[in-house]
Amino acid sequence: MSSGFPSPDGPLGILGGTFDPVHFGHLRLAEEALDALGLDQILWIPAGRPPHRGRPTASPVDRLAMVRCALEGHPRFALDDHEVTSDASSYTVTTLERLRTGPLATRPLVLLLGADAFAGLMSWHRWRELLGLAHVAVASRQGVDAAVLPDELSALLARRRGPLAALAGQPAGRIVQFPMTPLGISASGIRALLRAGRSARYLLPESVLDYIARHRLYTAS
Ligand code: ATP
Repeated sequence: MSSGFPSPDGPLGILGGTFDPVHFGHLRLAEEALDALGLDQILWIPAGRPPHRGRPTASPVDRLAMVRCALEGHPRFALDDHEVTSDASSYTVTTLERLRTGPLATRPLVLLLGADAFAGLMSWHRWRELLGLAHVAVASRQGVDAAVLPDELSALLARRRGPLAALAGQPAGRIVQFPMTPLGISASGIRALLRAGRSARYLLPESVLDYIARHRLYTAS
C-alpha cells in the first residue's frame, strides 16, 4: 500500500478501476459510498493490466499519478498501488486474497461497483469466489438499467441481497445496492473529448486535467 491509513474495525470500501482517467463519477461514487454504506475509508486500487477489457490508453504510471492527484487531501481515501506496479495481470479476486492475508483478514470489505460493472461480473476471473472475500455494493449508474442482468447474476442477487446494515456484521458475502447522484461521466467519453481537441473541464478534477495537459495524454496522435 502506498499511503498508510489508520485501521479501525469498520467496513472498508474497495474501489478498483482503470481510471483512464479518473473523473468525478468515480469520486462521487466513493464519496457517496462513504455516507450511504457507513464505510470508514476507501481504498482505491488502479488496475494494472486488466485482462477482461482493452488495454488502457494511458500507462500504469500515468493512471496512478492521476489517481494520486485526484485523492490529494481527502482524509478517508487511500491508494493501493500494488496492481498497477505489478507485472502480473490484475484480477480483483487475487487482490482481495492478498488483502485478506494482512491486517484486513477479518475486517468487512466492500467492493464498490457501478451498475455496469456489476452487470458484467460473470466475465471476471473466478467471479464466484468474490463474495467469499468481500461484500459487493452496487451504485446506480446513469444510462444503466440495474434490473437487466444475466439470469445467474439475478439469482445470486436475490439470494445475497442484504440491508445496508448487514455490511458491518460480517466480513463478506452480502450484496447491497445504493443510489448515487446520476452523473453521465465516463472515462471513454472524456478520452473522446480530448482526442477531438475539446474541453473536458468540470468532468474531472482540475489537477488531473493539468496532469493530462502536461503529459500530453489522450491527444489524437
Ligand atoms: P470507461 O468509460 O473507459 O469504461 P469508466 O468511466 O467506466 O471507464 P472505470 O475505471 O472503468 O471508469 O470505472 C471504475 C468503476 O467506477 C466501475 O465500477 C464503474 O462502474 C464505476 N463508475 C465509473 N463512472 C461512473 C459513474 N459516472 N457513475 C457510477 N459509477 C461509475
